[in-house]
Amino acid sequence: MTSNITFTIIKPLAVSKGYAGPILNKISESGFKITALKMLQLTQKEAETFYEVHKERPFYNDLVEFMVSGPIVVGVLEKENAVEDYRQLIGATDPAKAEEGTIRKLYADSVQANAVHGSDSDENAAIEASFFFSASDRF
Ligand code: ADP
Ligand code: MG
Repeated sequence: MTSNITFTIIKPLAVSKGYAGPILNKISESGFKITALKMLQLTQKEAETFYEVHKERPFYNDLVEFMVSGPIVVGVLEKENAVEDYRQLIGATDPAKAEEGTIRKLYADSVQANAVHGSDSDENAAIEASFFFSASDRF
């Protein structure tokens, strides 16, 4: 069974460049319903915890530093087949390899500053959504 939610982050550089609006518009136009949304700045501890699965990867420290560097926008998105469809919409991790029309192709600067996060499984979507939103903040 596939879940109908995924979780996204609009990363610091995309927010500071003013891309949050266009990205949210693209998300809505692509048939996702935004069921939770807020802007915040991660603490070091929160960023370390969120990316804990990548702790052993060489880019981990830089990634955490980047993710705490400015405000982000986090949201929960609802759609049939949400996780897979959102991965499709955002494109490859490396924006140079992302397909035309994808969010990363349109708005990303580099592999690290690749504009957005999208959950990679239903299980992680649920974990990530509840990391940022209490039940009463989800609609
Ligand atoms: P995705 O975000 O596409 O699921 P990963 O889960 O593999 O990609 O990586 C998490 C995040 O770590 C990426 O979105 C990107 O910001 C960063 N990252 C991944 N690979 C690299 C890399 N080779 N160099 C720098 N940053 C990276
Ligand atoms: Mg990932």
